[in-house]
Amino acid sequence: MRKVDGIDEGNTIRMRKAPAMTLRFSTPALGVCACCVLLAGSAAFAQERPVIRMVKHSGWSELAPKGVNGDGIRRNLAVGDSAEFQDLTFSVTEMTPADLDESGSAVAGSVDRVTVSLAMGEESDTRTLDEGDAYNWQGYHISIVAIYAKKGDLGFGSTVFEVATVASLPEEVAQSESAGGAEFRLRVPHGIDKLTLHHSATPLTPEDDLGQKLANMQVWGENDRNWWDVPYHYILDLDGTVYEGRDHRFVGDTNTRYDPAGHFLINCYGNYSDQEPNEAQLETIANLMAWAAMEYSIEPVTIYGHRDLAGTSCPGDNLYEYVENGTLKEMVEAVMAVGQPEIVWVEKGE
Ligand SMILES: [Zn+2]
Repeated sequence: MRKVDGIDEGNTIRMRKAPAMTLRFSTPALGVCACCVLLAGSAAFAQERPVIRMVKHSGWSELAPKGVNGDGIRRNLAVGDSAEFQDLTFSVTEMTPADLDESGSAVAGSVDRVTVSLAMGEESDTRTLDEGDAYNWQGYHISIVAIYAKKGDLGFGSTVFEVATVASLPEEVAQSESAGGAEFRLRVPHGIDKLTLHHSATPLTPEDDLGQKLANMQVWGENDRNWWDVPYHYILDLDGTVYEGRDHRFVGDTNTRYDPAGHFLINCYGNYSDQEPNEAQLETIANLMAWAAMEYSIEPVTIYGHRDLAGTSCPGDNLYEYVENGTLKEMVEAVMAVGQPEIVWVEKGE
């Protein structure tokens, strides 16, 4: 029998708000045990729905999310990568870093450049562009949001594209020859069919103010990454309180090269290569994932760690263990058997 480290030495998981019910995992592959199904279906033992304590975005940030609605896609592509949006295929054939001076700064007038090929049916177009350029082709608006061509850049080796239909964009964005900043970024709507776990890879201690860290992340994301909001949909504090991040109806963001469309992004803040997740955090991750799985009818429950999708150690070995050994999936399914968790709004620090 596999020991469920960090939850309970007795190899059981107690559901918060449901002290009468104890889940016992007899094998790693077991889903919901028969007694729990019986309990969930019995009026005599009606289980309280689990509660998710959540802080609204406006409760931790004075800065409203930016961006514009549009029918499009955002992708990070390396040389040789291509992606599709509707009838359009776009690809990167070359990236050239800006010339640098002795201090490592770009020489005046020199910028990172990318050669982009577009194809649609018999039509094709290849051009070399500067970081920050935007143009229209065949009814599509293509923005070169960022180029990470310099060694040491976060996201090194990728060009960040936004591609949208011209018709879906506000006039100001659709006709712009500049990709612009966070206020021009696309809020890309999506349906959710995957549940994906991240960590921040930076430590989180009980003395830390997570709301302030997220406010800093939002500003950094806007200025440094050209994001319209924090990249994750929900972020967890050490006590299991959830901070509402980017509106989950829109695609999240990443510095890596997977396509985050369809992913419900949860960040368990902290560095789980070093620290261990606690029981409250694991329960909350399960509650959030169960909430999303029921909201979007995700069946079977599909849980990823970021490392399953891209070259990263995220969400850290100590957290990924629960993804890899199936514990988290079992916890999510057990919550789903009780009912969709209830979101209760709380003030930061409450
Ligand atoms: Zn991650």
